[in-house]
Amino acid sequence: MDNAPEHHSANSLSQKDLFKMPIIRVALDVPVATLFDYLASDATTHDIGVRVQVPFGRKIMTGVIMEVLDSSPVTPGKLKTAASLFHDIPPLPLTLLDLCRFCSNYYHHPLGEVVMNSLPSRLRSNKPFIQKSTPPFQFRLTDAGRHADTTSIPVRSIIQHRLLNRLRENGVIKPDEARQISPSAPKVLQKFREMGWIEEVPIHSSSAKSVSSPVLNTEQQTAFDAIANDIRKFNVWLLHGITGSGKTEIYLRLITLLLLQGRQTLVLVPEISLTPQLEQIFRSRFPTTLLVCLHSRLSDSERLKGWLQAQKGEAKIVLGTRLAVFAPLPKLGMIIVDEEQDGSFKQQDGLRYSARDVSIFRAKQENVPVILGSATPSLESYYHATNGRYRMLRLSSRAVKKAVLPAVHCIDIRSAKCIDGLSQPLITALENGLAQDQQSLVFLNRRGYAPVLLCKSCSWTAKCHRCTSRLVVHLREKQLRCHHCGHQERFPSSCPDCGDQDIVPFGQGTQRVEALLAERFPNARILRIDRDSTRLKDGWEKMLKDIYERRVDILVGTQILAKGHDFPNLSLVGILNSDAALFSTDFRAAERLFAQLMQVAGRAGRADIPGEVLVQTEFPDHPLYHALRRHDYAALAQTLLSERKMAGFPPFVYQALLRAEAPQISAAMNFLTSAAELAGSTTGGVEIFDPVPAQMARLKGLERAHLLVQSGSRKKLQEFLTSWHTRITTLPIRKVRWSLDVDPQEF
Ligand SMILES: [Zn+2]
Ligand SMILES: [Zn+2]
Repeated sequence: MDNAPEHHSANSLSQKDLFKMPIIRVALDVPVATLFDYLASDATTHDIGVRVQVPFGRKIMTGVIMEVLDSSPVTPGKLKTAASLFHDIPPLPLTLLDLCRFCSNYYHHPLGEVVMNSLPSRLRSNKPFIQKSTPPFQFRLTDAGRHADTTSIPVRSIIQHRLLNRLRENGVIKPDEARQISPSAPKVLQKFREMGWIEEVPIHSSSAKSVSSPVLNTEQQTAFDAIANDIRKFNVWLLHGITGSGKTEIYLRLITLLLLQGRQTLVLVPEISLTPQLEQIFRSRFPTTLLVCLHSRLSDSERLKGWLQAQKGEAKIVLGTRLAVFAPLPKLGMIIVDEEQDGSFKQQDGLRYSARDVSIFRAKQENVPVILGSATPSLESYYHATNGRYRMLRLSSRAVKKAVLPAVHCIDIRSAKCIDGLSQPLITALENGLAQDQQSLVFLNRRGYAPVLLCKSCSWTAKCHRCTSRLVVHLREKQLRCHHCGHQERFPSSCPDCGDQDIVPFGQGTQRVEALLAERFPNARILRIDRDSTRLKDGWEKMLKDIYERRVDILVGTQILAKGHDFPNLSLVGILNSDAALFSTDFRAAERLFAQLMQVAGRAGRADIPGEVLVQTEFPDHPLYHALRRHDYAALAQTLLSERKMAGFPPFVYQALLRAEAPQISAAMNFLTSAAELAGSTTGGVEIFDPVPAQMARLKGLERAHLLVQSGSRKKLQEFLTSWHTRITTLPIRKVRWSLDVDPQEF
């Protein structure tokens, strides 16, 4: 902190006045673990949670009032006076401020930053927010609109088609929903109005059709009843249901229950790309309910609007990614964390929180149930569910009648004949799929053309000069790219080391597999889905549409494909190159690989099409593949848990990582060594390891190292971290950036 504030005297006030004046304690977005006291003449305890403008150093900053006090440890003469309080929106709920306090304490992150970063950016600015008060209205499709000839709309006018489709599905559309489809939607709707296709109606007179709910099977009913019977109190429910077992239907039923009570539901999903699909399901089931989405891809004003609707209790369903866990919800009745095992619930910089874990704290704080849904729960959650801390609910059969789990087979590629990395059994299966007009998916978790560019004569490989990583070959763009820092360079014409021109892409990425398949199946319609191909705005949506409408025969893709999307016509999944993760040094690699493969395998065989999964591997006898063949999560979980218990890994211990990065590795290591010395011998029950370079030792030009501490007791670890963290902040640091990562996921 280089600009710590000096509390200068407020000359205009006499000492006597000052003593009578209330003091507000303010959270500001500054990287120091303290709040700041100011005088505020008319502040009362009702102003807790109100935004306030205060002088800070030479600047004016906006913060949030956390406390209102009669006295301050700062001498009154040195206190500055707050500039103004914003009463433009209702104060933040006290429970939300408590949630921020919890995060600040647990993750050892400055409270001011936690509070301010939980707000939409517009509310962090120094300007008051002026709300436009428009009476709530929506657009309703008229009979003319329902029967209008859509062929008059050019095919390229996607927004027009999309809006009209939404209107025809739901009967109505709200202006903010329309704007979520496209910023140009208001213009299009105006045009529809002029044509008499839609009319403006008050929001509560909707005549939208709602979709009826399917009958629950016995397992679903049991799970629903269990949660519904305890709907008004805190419990962590682990809803462990195989892919296609109908978890979403249980969510919908529970939300229905909460809507009847006028309460709000928070639904967290790991990826932004999953929100449109779930949003669609929710909207068609609850057409008259206000649902808002909160994720980082919204514009500032969209996010603010949704946030305010949540804060006023108007939005009854809030669907979002991890940041939505901080949405203000005065009538919160339930939290759902779907795909709870997913790594993206953990933020990897700044406040390194886990939205799943924060959800559990929040649910406990507000005494409401939290549901963790997954086909392959994290071992932590599974362990807690088997030892009774969480309550387990199992869905072991598919909800759609007749649908059966896909048959999983391993192809031993040590003996099977392979052509360009594709085994004969897989090629035959792909041919059969084409012949029967069914979709197939080839999965490999590596984008680009090839992971390595190799010189055949001297074994040189292209490496990133900023990271400990190889550059990935992107052949079509004639580029080498680093997937860690984004560095790009031109494809060299010869080996930079020995000058030989025989440099070749080695190994397989999605682009290469796509090219191989195109060569082998010239008549097949092949679609590649990875972060490169979905980068364009709406790219992913368009691709999904093509898949649903059967304009694709073979999909090639990375884990983007694996998550949550239903492909009703998919009958075959081929898995390439999954062996590497079997022998990773990361103790979570096997758990993640299994979750990923179960997800991918789950794409095959929905509805009436039986599915088949072919895994190309050199290790067909590995326990992980055994469990995959039997769809037996529990067996693998038991194996992995006993390994973790022996090795002393989570969930049997609690961990924290002190991370350091610096231009020189020695600086990072020296810092960590000093920090370890500070821990000293007074570390009852806490183990401190030696500093080591990170797995990715160099990233974006900085050397990275870390120091692991762990304990069998979360409480002991937290006590230790609190005092240790304070002492670390006193260390002289030169060119070292450090942070504490509690419950780290990456090493
Ligand atoms: Zn060479
Ligand atoms: Zn790089």
